[in-house]
Amino acid sequence: MSGREALDFDVVIVGAGPAGLAAAIRLKQRSPRRSVAIVEKGAEVGAHILSGAVIDPVGLDALVPGWRNDPDVPLTQPVTRDRYLWLGAGGAVRLPHLLLPPLMSNRGAYVGSLGEVCRWLAGKAEALGVEIFTGFAASELLFDRRGAVTGVATGDMGLARDGSHKATYQPGVELRARYTLIAEGARGSLAKRLTRRFGLDLGREPQKYGIGIKELWHIPPARHRPGLVQHSFGWPLDDATGGGSFLYHLPGGLVSVGFVVHLNYRNPHFSPFEEFQRFKSHPAIAPTFADGERLAYGARAISEGGYQSVPKLTFPGGALIGCAAGFVNVPRIKGSHNAMLSGIAAADHVAAALADGRSHDEVAGYDEGWRTSPVGRDLWRVRNAKPLWSKHGTLRGVMLAGLDMWAQTFGWSPFGTLSHGEEDHRALEPGVTAPPIAYQRGDGKLTFDRLSSVYLSGTRHEENQPVHLKVGDMRLQVESEFRVYDGPSAPYCPAAVYEWREDGGAPHYVINAANCVHCKTCDIKDPNQNIDWVPPEGGGGPNYRGM
Ligand SMILES: Cc1cc2nc3c(=O)[nH]c(=O)nc-3n(C[C@H](O)[C@H](O)[C@H](O)COP(=O)(O)OP(=O)(O)OC[C@H]3O[C@@H](n4cnc5c(N)ncnc54)[C@H](O)[C@@H]3O)c2cc1C
Ligand code: SF4
Repeated sequence: MSGREALDFDVVIVGAGPAGLAAAIRLKQRSPRRSVAIVEKGAEVGAHILSGAVIDPVGLDALVPGWRNDPDVPLTQPVTRDRYLWLGAGGAVRLPHLLLPPLMSNRGAYVGSLGEVCRWLAGKAEALGVEIFTGFAASELLFDRRGAVTGVATGDMGLARDGSHKATYQPGVELRARYTLIAEGARGSLAKRLTRRFGLDLGREPQKYGIGIKELWHIPPARHRPGLVQHSFGWPLDDATGGGSFLYHLPGGLVSVGFVVHLNYRNPHFSPFEEFQRFKSHPAIAPTFADGERLAYGARAISEGGYQSVPKLTFPGGALIGCAAGFVNVPRIKGSHNAMLSGIAAADHVAAALADGRSHDEVAGYDEGWRTSPVGRDLWRVRNAKPLWSKHGTLRGVMLAGLDMWAQTFGWSPFGTLSHGEEDHRALEPGVTAPPIAYQRGDGKLTFDRLSSVYLSGTRHEENQPVHLKVGDMRLQVESEFRVYDGPSAPYCPAAVYEWREDGGAPHYVINAANCVHCKTCDIKDPNQNIDWVPPEGGGGPNYRGM
């Protein structure tokens, strides 16, 4: 017995993203009398949601069929034009639409802010009686004597940096449930522990990731094209480094611009943040932002392993849904539709189990059914895109992926099912063999530095709390991360959290934890898996609006 306050529910859901909210809404639609709670670490729903976003409405259609007629729905702008560019250092080539497989089309999709969609969905969930606890991080899993998950506990509040209790100390609360759904998004901290404990990834390909960095701009009407959706490959990345840009014209003069870099890049001096800044200076891109104003900034990991990397979805007492399970369609850079569809599917199975009087067992039907569901079919057709890109580089890889996706249109693939190979953290080469990269300082108008960017993310953490970026073995960090790999955490962190400083002739690792935007890149890319991201005190982190 822990002595903590405990609350009992039929279902507890961790994370108020599209997956968690869809699951909660569906549970209440199916069984209005069941008690359902969501725990969300952001200060409010949407505060930690970062996405493009071009949204395929299949998930919304299944969940809220009349959503297009809802006067408050924040998703009103259909995609009007779809462009793919190949960028070279000085020019750009527009790829003809005929070359693109039909599944890459954005026809029928909408552009908007996923964070705002989540805020709107949260209103729907609350109207149905779902309890949403915002500002509380689920930091611990609860188990019964047989080892089944029986809920989660929120983290203690009011702990000082050294772990002692401040005057504001409040112990965490146990949220007990008959079933617990994990909807933490990409690289969830509880999902990571569950995967290890229950061996959910046994026999699967390793999960792959990208880091997505995004800015929201307001631009003058003369350059604004509502509904225009543009993606690019190529410059400033070299052929061996996977990734590309997105640029979406939202309503109200807003432009969402971002850059995704595959986290299997090799050069430890490489900085995804700086590459994004360089990208904006391309002659085909920069004019969009002339006389514009940058309003917001943020970063988030995106899961990229797709079909081959989806772990076993269920464990005794619960299931993984959404990006905690890795349901992103990588070539389309879309995961929100599958997040919702997987939340709905899991909710259907949990509702049926509850109706049968079951609890704390495995809802095996959810795991058994996903491959033949719309989510499985969506991921199956694009399963070779990422492995081809990783193996053959951008130019050949994207062409081969296009060919494969065309063939998949007819239900066939020349490649079968390809493997991803190694985990992302194994890809780095030692600093001594990797060429240094010189990045230019931001001009403060189009290109920026990290600290002024973090300011625009609204990130706030209580300074006097235990550091939530746990370095397992500091000696290993010095001997390997710093001495062998030249300290890649400093360039890869999009929030300037990590610095190596000289202290009396010895390297000293500075962790500016208060800057962290919760993107999870360090947890993924640290070459020794020596950094463990755990949730800080609830309510801390970014305060995204319109992201
Ligand atoms: C740069 C970028 C661009 C993208 N573009 C698109 C796009 O255009 N279209 C598209 O469809 N998809 C896009 N995606 C993917 C899409 O955003 C995800 O697939 C989707 O957000 C996944 O939903 P989710 O509910 O599983 O997780 P998330 O949206 O990540 O939500 C998880 C929620 O759980 C909370 N949480 C996490 N851990 C805890 C914890 N321990 N305790 C309490 N709360 C917790 C988080 O704060 C968050 O609110 C993009 C992703 C990125 C990074
Ligand atoms: S510390 Fe880690 S999780 Fe936080 S912003 Fe930096 S890379 Fe992302």
